[in-house]
Amino acid sequence: MPFCSGWEKGVIAREQGDIGRVVDNAATWPSIGSDSACDAMSKGARCCVTDNSFRLNNGVEIPTLGYGVFQTTPEDTLKTVATALDVGYRHVDTAASYLNERGVGDAIRLSGLDRSEVFVETKVWISDYGYDETLHAFDKSARKLGVDQIDLLLLHQPLPAEFDLTISAYRALENLLAAGRVRAIGVSNFMVDHLTTLLEATDVVPAVNQIEAHPYFRQPDLTAMNTELGILTQAWSPIGGITFYREGYDKSTLDDPTITEIAASHDKTPAQVMLRWHLQQGRQAIPKSTTPSRIAENFDVFDFELTTDQIAAIDSLETGERGGPEPAQVTREAFGRVIPED
Ligand code: NAP
Repeated sequence: MPFCSGWEKGVIAREQGDIGRVVDNAATWPSIGSDSACDAMSKGARCCVTDNSFRLNNGVEIPTLGYGVFQTTPEDTLKTVATALDVGYRHVDTAASYLNERGVGDAIRLSGLDRSEVFVETKVWISDYGYDETLHAFDKSARKLGVDQIDLLLLHQPLPAEFDLTISAYRALENLLAAGRVRAIGVSNFMVDHLTTLLEATDVVPAVNQIEAHPYFRQPDLTAMNTELGILTQAWSPIGGITFYREGYDKSTLDDPTITEIAASHDKTPAQVMLRWHLQQGRQAIPKSTTPSRIAENFDVFDFELTTDQIAAIDSLETGERGGPEPAQVTREAFGRVIPED
């Protein structure tokens, strides 16, 4: 289903410095299939949804829905990414710290798809922050992925206690971008103050901020800031995985009565409803599954549309409770780990 039929590509390519409209709730963000979505996006946001992709703030296109591989074992990665590519995903999100970049690269190479058809995203871990260290981290990831160029490279976390190191790492990403080694650069888990400090000290506005976002924790203020700056919000744990796979969390988004009721009304599953909720609000999503039927299920979200009331009902499930680590508390002492050379 086309997201923006009749919407000419290029209309929304914005000039530098043109700040997009703030979008902070469902009521102000029209559905992706509607004409009003095209109108609103052409007037405002600089990261926009086209037929089957978002256009990043530097013009690079990223598929609307990606496939995540956090917690996928190195042994399973080749098989599961192969399944995802078979189903139709054309974007894989991995990270140096997931230790499975090699499986991602192998799956892409064995898929028979042209390298240009698959969008490859990975992240530099905090142990490799610093200018030279981060350049070296690129080499390690590119080698494991078996690619010359990475489509999107992120800093995985800010290091608030060592922000100078974070900035040096981002400077290295800027260098890699200028050299054409990466097509776009971005950040992950950057909160409002981290983004503000980063923008003051560096030149390239991140193309993406990958953050925890699901019905129980959607970070509307941060998402609004991303949008205002032309940064695409990428939702991690988009179906709320962190609400049920993490010890100590027992209230699963998958069992939420509001979501299950909406799902039943569309003859869809709760996971599909949550993914649709992200897309209709202009967030890219990267669901993870190692189960073939769920890999396919999570990609089957382009044939229905949530109503404004349904989107608002899901928004209202916000708990304010973060599932992942508090970004302010991430330090190399607590979370550092050596990323192997090979
Ligand atoms: P998620 O995608 O919201 O949920 C994954 C969990 O849900 C897995 O336990 C999976 O189990 C299960 N699942 C998947 N599809 C399902 C379905 N249709 N029905 C029922 N259960 C389903 O959570 P996530 O893995 O935390 O996040 C997705 C991706 O975001 C990651 O893979 C990674 O790429 C990225 N991420 C980034 C960060 C960061 O700090 N930047 C942090 C976390 C995640 P099975 O695999 O057994 O099917």
